Amino acid sequence: MGPVPNAHSIPEVLAPAGDDASMRAAVAAGADAVYFGLQGFNARARATNFDEAALRETLRYLHEHGAKGFVTLNTLVFDEELPRLEAAVRACADAAVDAVIVQDLGVAQLVRAIAPTLPMHASTQMTCTDAAAVELARSLGATRVILARELSLEDIAKVREGTSLELEVFVHGALCIAYSGQCLTSEAIGGRSANRGACAQACRLPYELVVDGVLQELGDRAYLLSPEDLEASALVPRLVELGVTSIKIEGRLKGPEYVAATTRLYRRAVDAAVGRGQDAASAEGDRQAALQMFSRGSGPGFLAGIDHQRLVEGKTCDHRGLLAGESLGTVRGTGASRSKVYVKVRAREPILRGDGILVEGGFGGEGEVGGRVWGVVVRGADTPEARPGDEALLWLGPDKDVDLAATGRRVWKTNDPKQEAQVRASLASDARRVVVDMTLTGSLGEPAVLVGRSRVATHDATVTLDAPVEAARSAPTTLEVLRDKLGRLGDTPFVLGELTVDLPANAMVPLSALNRARRALADALLAAAPEPHKTTATTAADLLALALPPDRAPPGPGLFVLCRSLAQAHAALDAGAAGVTLDLLELTGTGAALRELRARPGGAHVTVAPPRIRKPGEEKLDRYLAQLGPDAILVRGLGALHDGGVGGEDARASAIQRIGDASLNVTNALSAAFVLSRGLHAFTPSFDLDATQLASLLSPGLAPFAEVVVHHPMPLFHMEHCVFAALLSEGKDSKTCGRPCDHHVLSLRDRAGHDHPVEADVGCRNTVFHAAAQSAAHLVATLQERGVRRFRIELVRESAADVTRIVGAYTALLSGATAAGDVWRTLKTDGGYGVVKGSLRVLQG
Ligand code: SF4
Ligand code: SF4
Repeated sequence: MGPVPNAHSIPEVLAPAGDDASMRAAVAAGADAVYFGLQGFNARARATNFDEAALRETLRYLHEHGAKGFVTLNTLVFDEELPRLEAAVRACADAAVDAVIVQDLGVAQLVRAIAPTLPMHASTQMTCTDAAAVELARSLGATRVILARELSLEDIAKVREGTSLELEVFVHGALCIAYSGQCLTSEAIGGRSANRGACAQACRLPYELVVDGVLQELGDRAYLLSPEDLEASALVPRLVELGVTSIKIEGRLKGPEYVAATTRLYRRAVDAAVGRGQDAASAEGDRQAALQMFSRGSGPGFLAGIDHQRLVEGKTCDHRGLLAGESLGTVRGTGASRSKVYVKVRAREPILRGDGILVEGGFGGEGEVGGRVWGVVVRGADTPEARPGDEALLWLGPDKDVDLAATGRRVWKTNDPKQEAQVRASLASDARRVVVDMTLTGSLGEPAVLVGRSRVATHDATVTLDAPVEAARSAPTTLEVLRDKLGRLGDTPFVLGELTVDLPANAMVPLSALNRARRALADALLAAAPEPHKTTATTAADLLALALPPDRAPPGPGLFVLCRSLAQAHAALDAGAAGVTLDLLELTGTGAALRELRARPGGAHVTVAPPRIRKPGEEKLDRYLAQLGPDAILVRGLGALHDGGVGGEDARASAIQRIGDASLNVTNALSAAFVLSRGLHAFTPSFDLDATQLASLLSPGLAPFAEVVVHHPMPLFHMEHCVFAALLSEGKDSKTCGRPCDHHVLSLRDRAGHDHPVEADVGCRNTVFHAAAQSAAHLVATLQERGVRRFRIELVRESAADVTRIVGAYTALLSGATAAGDVWRTLKTDGGYGVVKGSLRVLQG
């Protein structure tokens, strides 16, 4: 491990930019760095994003203003897209981009091969949750890792202890309910991949709770998977102590006002944390301004630890802004106002004429009343503003029906035009300046030399005046005059800092020459942009040609069945499976199950599955599973890929086979070759692939090393949030929840009436599975022709009888005894699960 970044060093404030206006707002508000996407290849396809051709100009603007620019190339990429990605990487290198942000293991290799000096950050989409995952990213050439948002401050401290790589932490903005890089909901439901920047926000939809088969009444709570937003300004001092390199604001789909207000909040929070001072009142003012711009309700997220009662309130999925008061029902006006119906509110924040307000409604927003405030009446008199504590009548205009505004409902201020105007005005006045320290040196009869040294490392310049220093006939040129002349930098991004003068006592510097030198120095500083990063002649095609399978025999063929119970495992083996994978989510009983299966006549090939996420300290679960002596173990995350996944580096040489799971997100040959080079015996292609992409990934060389899932209910959301604890207990974590997961079977019902099973694992992480299994039966023949020899079925709650039918159908299909259509017919007519093609269809467009 190299030197650990200093605790108490000043973390960078990293702001989002979805367009040019937001980028300028971020810079003006004090961002040290801005991240943005190019059109294509980034996890926010809906943002305007930046044009590759204008990249140089964008970076020039940022560098001139002393800010860095990071480009997101953080999607999963398919083989045929790699040449286009290569071009994007070259453009980034040429424009002196300060770093690219990547998710895909293959893209990381491509960046490193093409632009060896271009800094590379591992995206939060890589799901790095422990120090070993960070080290895996380092081995790919990453210079920084953006940690998963599910880590607490305590977890981050442990990661910090285990690695010296730069760490970046999200502190503000929308949270995903699922681990980033592990959400397959949009893919499964709409063929839109969150890993490809096209998330359909399925977590923001309403769901109903089904417990033990019975629909539960949850009052107003409809958005059971929609988390509140993150706001962690109060935790910045601790992040500084932990030596975090960068604190990051989410929001590339938001406008410049949001970017400015949130950037200012964290600029000032960082400055205060390192002793540059800020009083508590202005900190709270900044916080309120940021939340007013966009907030679904806010809190410290997982940074403050697990609290299943706090993260998802369930009453909203959209912007609310600031809590401004409580509804006291509606009131009809009197006298000249008798045609008006007012919402009566007890204000807890100022509410001004012109503000946007919303009186919250019931389940799914039913009965919600909102609009702009046309008039405010307090104590019988029209007034421009209701103050905290006032009982105010708010008139929302002649066309607004407010009758549904119920007593006791919360009233939110959704929009504050006065504050937005202030933010916009401050952007103009805040125009960021780079401090330049100058030195003026000379002797009589010689031209003086002016050196400008920016406090941003990339800007240094020297200019020789075009006239000699003269002996003063009356008064020499004073320091005040020199400061005045050299400080006239108003039309540049610079401001004069320290001025050091080394001239004879009686020197007179011609003022016109000084002015020309100042202008030339500013021009030279502007021209002193960072050098482009050098690129190599290697191409994506070269790398793909080298993406070869390992020089060893592929693992044995067969149909393997991932089971969530021992009964399923017996049924699968009875029905002809070549082996089973025990994914007993609680892990309890795995040892006994393994022994029982091994004791079957003829024995059994048994793989064990650790939890999909591994946080600091949870490597012990890998060691526990390894010491059971299974035939194989699933490798589900980058930490396990790095250290063997069976308890340490030495274990790579052990007899236990290591099978990479779909959660490693292998979508191209570079990624496949990489994970195999790390000692995996086989890999599971990502569920983000459609049929064509899957076939194209599985070249004749790689195909025998693939284990393709041909039948499974898609794991939609894999999340730190526990739905059991949140909705069936009042406990905030596993110590206080009373373990409802032990006694209840739970599903979430979507608007179409489909019940999606929810299962909890030993780490209390929940997975929401799709209600219907998806089948790749129609692809099996093609896959076999390509050389695929290993196939997998994944089960969730299927009964032994279901397992017999499913495994029997696929066994017959693989042996050529039946056709895909027979599998479809068999499985469609039986059991609670239908079969849909899901993401294994060819996408159009
Ligand atoms: S949890 Fe999934 S569906 Fe929700 S915003 Fe994140 S990626 Fe999209
Ligand atoms: S013990 Fe069960 S209910 Fe409680 S937090 Fe863990 S998974 Fe959730």
